[in-house]
Amino acid sequence: MLHNIRSLMLAGLALAAPVAASAQKKPAPKPQNAESAIHEADIKRDLFALAGDHFRGREGGTLDELKASVWLADQIRATGMLPAGDDGTYFQWFNLQRTRLSKASTLRIGTHEIKLNEDGAVTAPTNASITAPLVYVGTGSAAEIAKVDVKGKAVAVQIAGAPTDGISYRRYVFGKFAGQAGELVKAGAVAVVFVSDAASQALYDHWGHVFERGRYSLPGATSTKVVNTPPVIWLPASAASWVQQAGQQFTTELKVESFQYPSVNIVAKMPGTDAQLKKEYVLFSTHQDHDGVRAPIAGDSIYNGADDNATGCAALLAIMRAFKQQPGRRSALFVYQGSEERGLIGSTYFSAHPTVPQSSIVAVLNAEMMGRNVADSAALLGSTPPHMNSSDLVKTALSANQAGPKFKLDTEWDKPTHPEGWYFRSDHLPYARLGIPSIMYTSLLHVDYHTPRDEPSRIDYAKLTRMTQWMYLTGWAVANRTAPPAREPGFKLER
Ligand SMILES: [Zn+2]
Repeated sequence: MLHNIRSLMLAGLALAAPVAASAQKKPAPKPQNAESAIHEADIKRDLFALAGDHFRGREGGTLDELKASVWLADQIRATGMLPAGDDGTYFQWFNLQRTRLSKASTLRIGTHEIKLNEDGAVTAPTNASITAPLVYVGTGSAAEIAKVDVKGKAVAVQIAGAPTDGISYRRYVFGKFAGQAGELVKAGAVAVVFVSDAASQALYDHWGHVFERGRYSLPGATSTKVVNTPPVIWLPASAASWVQQAGQQFTTELKVESFQYPSVNIVAKMPGTDAQLKKEYVLFSTHQDHDGVRAPIAGDSIYNGADDNATGCAALLAIMRAFKQQPGRRSALFVYQGSEERGLIGSTYFSAHPTVPQSSIVAVLNAEMMGRNVADSAALLGSTPPHMNSSDLVKTALSANQAGPKFKLDTEWDKPTHPEGWYFRSDHLPYARLGIPSIMYTSLLHVDYHTPRDEPSRIDYAKLTRMTQWMYLTGWAVANRTAPPAREPGFKLER
């Protein structure tokens, strides 16, 4: 599951032509499903292996992601699924474009040499060469700003307060880097320096390191274009004592570097049994990457991503075993998307360059974080307008829930008013934007999200097994029905 601080520049992709309803005169009697082939013990074994320290958190675009992907392809082959990637392999390669501050960048405030990404962070990659006086404006209230001429100056602001409108504290603080900084830049500031207070220091300890990584996209995407805006810098609370001193100079040389390297999708299929319907695909989607090795928390630096998203990876392997035992009339396509955490990059690539005709994909069932929180509760994202692009598919999924695990469904997180924007943060999204009926199965957020504490020992395997059965039963129903799921007319996301 992707952080919600990244913007997804996917607008402008054309809607795909709808799939024509398949004209089956005499539907064959539906075969029995193979739900009993889905075993908790298999899921648990696969998850412990994939989310073990051996794979070092599987960061997108690293050898760790590649190693985990090769391991997954071996497991997939063992289930009996056929390769459906490039050139008869299980892999589809794509390049990431990464844009970040080069290590040659420097920052000095007064007598303080600030080592970037250790003593402070630049919140967006930008080229800059600035020498300017620093002014301190307290918390940056209108009254405080009115007392100072910020034009041509670097402006230091104390982070304080708390959100008042229901958004998370993280969004409140990160919102300042665009909102409050933007106002100061508009008033003529040449740089903005935010200093943590005690509350935001905890946030800095947890999130300060994310900026070092820079931005990722597919090559040529606008989201990694550098626009050279005045730098916004985030300092730890330890800077509060000296940053207020009058008469200090702010000096920085920031240089952006941009380069490409490969990431990978893993693609496999189980051909359908019906001569016509086998040309259509039910796509089971998940992502194999996570956040890699990062700043340690309580002595652990490996972000194992057990829930996010080894749960989805293990679930798909189990679903493959069921389809091997009993193939459906339509084909089943399994796509593990690389570099989801870097901005839904593998799914953006696969949805635009699928290894089967785009119009042959009748539904996307996406598995994202399915093994935490209360045992009998789960969520189906894409089941509420404006996120619902196929009420027909949702109906099938709800029936599968009743036939199988009978989860109590949380509908709050699918609402466009929900502050987390959960719907926009996983791999079904690029498919939905193309008009393909798409839903996400999830057990939602928890306190260990994107920390080294997201470990295999914290997963509820019985629940994960039931989530897997639910996905499978939905996919099975879609694979065997006569017509593909109908698309919602007038589907339009709120962003
Ligand atoms: Zn995630």
